[in-house]
Amino acid sequence: MDFALTDEHRMVQHMVKGFAQKEVAPIIKEYDRKQAMAPFVLPRMGELGILGICLPVRYGGQGMDYIALGLACEELEAVDSTLRVVMSVHVGLNSLALLQWGTEEQKEQFLVPQARGEKIACFGLTEPGAGSDVAAMDSTARLSGDKYIINGEKMWISLATVADHALIVARTNPDASDPHDGLSAFMVELDRPGVSCGDIHGKLGVRAGSTGWLAFQNVEIPRQNLIGEEGEGFKIAMSCLDNGRYTVAAGATGLIRASLESSVKYAGERRAFGREIGKFQLVQQKIAYMVQSFEAAQLLYLRAGWMKNQGVRNTRETSLAKWFATDASFDAASEAIQIHGAYGYSDEYDVERYLRNAKGAILYEGTSEIHQLMQAGFALGYRDDVPLRCELPPFDLDAWRSE
Ligand SMILES: Cc1cc2nc3c(=O)[nH]c(=O)nc-3n(C[C@H](O)[C@H](O)[C@H](O)COP(=O)(O)OP(=O)(O)OC[C@H]3O[C@@H](n4cnc5c(N)ncnc54)[C@H](O)[C@@H]3O)c2cc1C
Repeated sequence: MDFALTDEHRMVQHMVKGFAQKEVAPIIKEYDRKQAMAPFVLPRMGELGILGICLPVRYGGQGMDYIALGLACEELEAVDSTLRVVMSVHVGLNSLALLQWGTEEQKEQFLVPQARGEKIACFGLTEPGAGSDVAAMDSTARLSGDKYIINGEKMWISLATVADHALIVARTNPDASDPHDGLSAFMVELDRPGVSCGDIHGKLGVRAGSTGWLAFQNVEIPRQNLIGEEGEGFKIAMSCLDNGRYTVAAGATGLIRASLESSVKYAGERRAFGREIGKFQLVQQKIAYMVQSFEAAQLLYLRAGWMKNQGVRNTRETSLAKWFATDASFDAASEAIQIHGAYGYSDEYDVERYLRNAKGAILYEGTSEIHQLMQAGFALGYRDDVPLRCELPPFDLDAWRSE
């Protein structure tokens, strides 16, 4: 067992941290207040190669492994969750699905520009009437000649109004005896006639990010935009979540670390009853719990990343990492506010933003309740992983670096 990061991993941490801390941290409060995404963020992440960090060089990526993806997410969310959300949807839920399920033509058409940051990608699963219960979705895709015609609405879609491509799931067979088997996955170019989109305002958190809706009215897409086979949509969506949840777990680890660092700093500065508050055992206890959560969350996501590198199925481990880290990040942010007292309650400090952002991650990519059901299901033997027709390819240095 080797717990050491490589020099390349440390280089990724250093580069991503430099971007997040020097370029985004100084302006994040302004954009959080404005409830808008800073316009330079996506182009800059593309320029730095962050948007294709773990993708093979021949598909426009940087040729790093899945652990590098996790480390990047940890550094990004240590500054603001909106930065990590970009990675979750663009890389985790979309580009990695193309790597896993796409044909060579689909990789050339969609993955290459996404990995280079020339096109931005999102993921449309949730609908107004279907969240946790994915198979209850109403969107449809009907084959007509060599085209699919898409109708329906997707809700709560991160990057909906800034993305060029969406990976969506829609119902192709309304008569399937199990509704899960009637779903299929598609790549949709969002400039096609019949696509409309909008932003959702008034969110509790991820305010410096984009969350919106997508509507499809008789949108025609070529038959070649079907990802995988007809009827595989639910399996593809769940495999996307195995990758998206990994990025959420890693990011939430960064949020715990940010709460810990802010708390340590403040506890060393603020004085009460003639001494710095860090000297009080009740404050120390909060700090100790943050240390515990951070270390455990980091180990859990790194294990999941290591399993991805080996090509070992990690649905259970990734779900556990995501559930643990997101719940722990909310607790850490809440306790960080407590340590900051009234100052923590205002946006003069970052900790109130951490709390607002942390809540979102307990909802998306499987609510905590869904992860509890999954963990209990695995433990009780009620569920097991069924092998997929296409698994996420294991990291292979030579293959990832070859042109
Ligand atoms: C900021 C943000 C960004 C998002 N980005 C995306 C995105 O990019 N793409 C996308 O497709 N979706 C996205 N979502 C949607 C998100 O994935 C859903 O909100 C989530 O799946 C939960 O669905 P729901 O909100 O419809 O809640 P519901 O499924 O209606 O659940 C409501 C409550 O009931 C509980 N519940 C439901 N079923 C059970 C059960 N069987 N047992 C116990 N409790 C249960 C839930 O845990 C929850 O507490 C985003 C959401 C947010 C908040």
